[in-house]
Amino acid sequence: MTTTSGANESLADRLEAVRAGVADAAREAGRNVEEITTIVVTKFHPASLVRELYTLGVRDIGENRHQEARLKAAETADLDLRWHFVGQLQSKKARQAREYASVIHSIDRESLVEVLASEERELGCFIQLNLTEDPARGGVPPLELEPLAARVLETPGLRLLGVMAVAPLGEQPRSAFARVRQASELLRTVAPSATAISAGMSADYPLAILEGATHLRIGAAITGIRPDAG
Ligand SMILES: *Cc1c(COP(=O)(O)O)cnc(C)c1O
Repeated sequence: MTTTSGANESLADRLEAVRAGVADAAREAGRNVEEITTIVVTKFHPASLVRELYTLGVRDIGENRHQEARLKAAETADLDLRWHFVGQLQSKKARQAREYASVIHSIDRESLVEVLASEERELGCFIQLNLTEDPARGGVPPLELEPLAARVLETPGLRLLGVMAVAPLGEQPRSAFARVRQASELLRTVAPSATAISAGMSADYPLAILEGATHLRIGAAITGIRPDAG
């Protein structure tokens, strides 16, 4: 059972360790662990890993590339999973992503909001914040959060859940997550129900929990070393 492992433990062991880590951090933060969703990011891993995770009780799966996500979602269509798209999304792929994804974590521009509009199934949305000075990193600068949120709120078929961010290299993750929390508080002044915070990855999720994260996106700590991107 170590086909997907880069370490000595099994997938079940690593999942268990992360679940314990989430519970510990929640306790330290004085929060209810039930309000925290762990999304397992399976990028570069085969659909068979998604199946193994499912048998271990995982229901929330994250992917950052559309082609790969679409194939894996199709291969596991018999499972009751929620797919979270966490990578940068091209507008021309957005309608296809809408077909398998329950939630998009990377809303970062009005043109993307427009193509995701729908009269059909509601799609959960996080607005991604860019906490760096580098526009290539994805996400909106904090000052553009409110106008983009207003666009999401007026668009049919979209439900604004909250803010998403990746802690930048070269900044203490805790202080980055504190900035995300501030942005979340600001967002709630215009969208009171958009209370979710998608933040925290393998290396920094306990700190994200201390700053209010509700959706963790965890890859390698659970899946093991990622196979080559190819
Ligand atoms: C890959 C990825 C993750 C998970 O990263 P790990 O360090 O493997 O936990 C989280 N969020 C995004 C946007 C990702 O692309």
